[in-house]
Amino acid sequence: MPSYVNPEKCDGCKALDKTACQYICPNDLMVLDKEKMKAYNRDASMCWECYNCVKICPTQAIEVRGYADFVPMGASVTPLRSTDSIMWTVKFRNGTIKRFKFPIRSTPEGGAVPDGGYPNGGELASCELATEPASLGLPAVFSLKR
Ligand code: SF4
Ligand code: SF4
Repeated sequence: MPSYVNPEKCDGCKALDKTACQYICPNDLMVLDKEKMKAYNRDASMCWECYNCVKICPTQAIEVRGYADFVPMGASVTPLRSTDSIMWTVKFRNGTIKRFKFPIRSTPEGGAVPDGGYPNGGELASCELATEPASLGLPAVFSLKR
């Protein structure tokens, strides 16, 4: 089920040029109502429930009603992201609460190298991946001669 915004929790990202949910949605679905300063999902049928907006919202205003194969019937699943981990809180319909915390980074925040340290990558006309052959530990990628 698509994401939806709880207007009581949404503060419109304090009138920034672009809200966090607008910035992160891969489908460009989140819209800010500038009069009410509340965001909303403009096309629920296009939402693929990726949870990006849920995870990034600084006020935990966005929720997703998860499908039964992921969220047990009547339960809710809520992520809470920090700089180095994410905590998932699962609330079952009988009131049981379970929490799972996972690391989300292998580098300090802001420390990721965009090209992964393979500055010679990115030959678009090549059939090799951007990091090859170095990431394979080979001097060259071998292929059959035609
Ligand atoms: S990220 Fe959260 S607080 Fe910011 S506009 Fe979107 S729903 Fe509102
Ligand atoms: S769940 Fe994903 S696709 Fe749906 S509105 Fe949020 S960011 Fe966009």
